[in-house]
Amino acid sequence: MILSICDDPKTMEVINIVVRIVNILKIVVPILLLFVLAFKFTKAAVAKNEEEVKKAEKTAVPSVIAAALIFLVPTAINLIIDISFPDNEYSACFVETSVEKIEAAYVMKMEKLFNRADNSLNMGDYVAAMNYLTYIKNEKERQEYEEKLKEIKEKIDKIREQNIIASSGYLDMDFGSCKFQEKKAGGMTYAICVPENYGGQSLPMILWLHGSSERGKSFNALVGSGLPAVVRNWSSTGLKNIPAIIVAPIVTSTDDTWGSTNVLKGVKTIMDEVIANYNINTKKIALIGHSMGGAGTYYVAREYQDYFSSIVSLSSHVSSCEEKDKSYFRTIPLKGFVEEAEPTIFKNPTTNFFSELNRLDDLKYLTCDHDEVPRTVLLEDSNGDKISDIIYWMLSFGMNAISVDSDPIGDGSFNPDSGTAGTCNKHGEYKYCSPKRGIFGSFAYADSEPNGTTNRWSLKSDPAWNKENLVDLPMTCSNGWNIDMKMHKLAKSTWEKVQQALCKITTTGIDGIVYKPEDITMSGRKATSVQRFTSNTKYVSNHSYGTAIDINPGGTYTVNGKKYTPYKRNKSEYEAFVAALGREDDPRNINYILWKKIFEPLGFKWGGNWKGSSFDGMHFELDGGKK
Ligand SMILES: [Zn+2]
Repeated sequence: MILSICDDPKTMEVINIVVRIVNILKIVVPILLLFVLAFKFTKAAVAKNEEEVKKAEKTAVPSVIAAALIFLVPTAINLIIDISFPDNEYSACFVETSVEKIEAAYVMKMEKLFNRADNSLNMGDYVAAMNYLTYIKNEKERQEYEEKLKEIKEKIDKIREQNIIASSGYLDMDFGSCKFQEKKAGGMTYAICVPENYGGQSLPMILWLHGSSERGKSFNALVGSGLPAVVRNWSSTGLKNIPAIIVAPIVTSTDDTWGSTNVLKGVKTIMDEVIANYNINTKKIALIGHSMGGAGTYYVAREYQDYFSSIVSLSSHVSSCEEKDKSYFRTIPLKGFVEEAEPTIFKNPTTNFFSELNRLDDLKYLTCDHDEVPRTVLLEDSNGDKISDIIYWMLSFGMNAISVDSDPIGDGSFNPDSGTAGTCNKHGEYKYCSPKRGIFGSFAYADSEPNGTTNRWSLKSDPAWNKENLVDLPMTCSNGWNIDMKMHKLAKSTWEKVQQALCKITTTGIDGIVYKPEDITMSGRKATSVQRFTSNTKYVSNHSYGTAIDINPGGTYTVNGKKYTPYKRNKSEYEAFVAALGREDDPRNINYILWKKIFEPLGFKWGGNWKGSSFDGMHFELDGGKK
């Protein structure tokens, strides 16, 4: 549209320069013509040459006319345009461009970009507006925009933060389908797939390593196979789009594998480039590959251990793990899939690899053909939630996930085979003995209401036993959250781990999930060691031993407008809550997440697993073993 030409400050600047040049030329050229004419006359006169004077006289009239015309041409053109097209702004912006007008146009464009960023709160729009600041010459105006953009950035940051916190349902988010684009970095071509409605949210990354057939092939060949091929046809699978950025490099030379030095370097360069260009949740980078790429997951993960939060190896032919890397591959979330049909090339080596790691439980055998393995694995949706099981599995892990970092037995976590059982020394009013609880033994207690049956607080344990066996575990989390506990000394280090983990999940988060301290409520010490009987019957509670903790006893959560208090001693309430969430491991099911991520790996039992009226979703406890 020709009319908008005057709105574009860059075009206006060009026009402004053209107009200036034309203005200079329309003066300079006639002057030059007249000057040449004058020179000819002077020369002829000085030479007293009649012939030359006549010649000069002849050219005098045309020269003067030409000079006059050149001077008038631009004005004439404008006039003609104005007469022919009276409504056009085209000539107006030729005639009227000025520095002020151009600056005003820049401000107008800036205002547009600012409003766009303000409305969309999109990182890309914000960056575009920020980049435009340099065109605003007026310092005061520029500073005003800078201030306003700062506010937008704060809003965007808040949204980003919420995206991480509300990882609950994060996998339900739909940023649309994606199209693979071809890019180059680190001497390699790679395909990258960004969801079409991606607006700068923090997204996980999935790195795909292709098989040997795609080596040295084109971008089109790459996106026609393996994970990219499945993702391109994702909409026809009936499954939800994947909220992740997918990256797939191509090994350039047919002589190379994913273990080649230059390839490893290239892969790192590509990952770093993507991390720099997008808001990648670097705590969630999943690695998956097939065949040569299945083996590649081993080589790449081994080289860049800090990058990956989960690994899926499809039809790998790596049969052995180097000794130095065993602890890494034993602890990282890892799943293997291999076809039965290729026993010598793939099945046996993979089996050996997983066997060496003591992880045969994490290896699954498939009945499909070699080439069908990626499709078969990626499209499996066993619970019908329209999210690929393996994608869900891959993206549910975060870096330094406690469940995989800690080796629950043997690193100081609770071990019921160590320690000495306490014995009950009845004396004075402490005339009862509590039941034996493995290594925690038994203690003497008094009951102020020996004939009553209902008061759970009437228990008073032997102060001497308390002094000897219960330890104070004060702790202050960096977010100001105090988690003071009083616990059994034989499980001291495990309880400290619980404190650290609770602190971690409310600060840096676990598996990319960050909860607020108020999401994890405990009623002070009453939630930990407290002298009491159990709620239902007058039975000595494990809380008296300093081996149990209650979390979120009264936590109320709203799902689809309905309120639930899932962790009270009411199994049907919990079941209704889980049904509303759609699945038990939804991040909003906090106590289940705490159980899976923190308590189970540390050797705890969860009352949420107890049947019928024993159900106790707030309760986590250590079993003292059989001693
Ligand atoms: Zn309890």
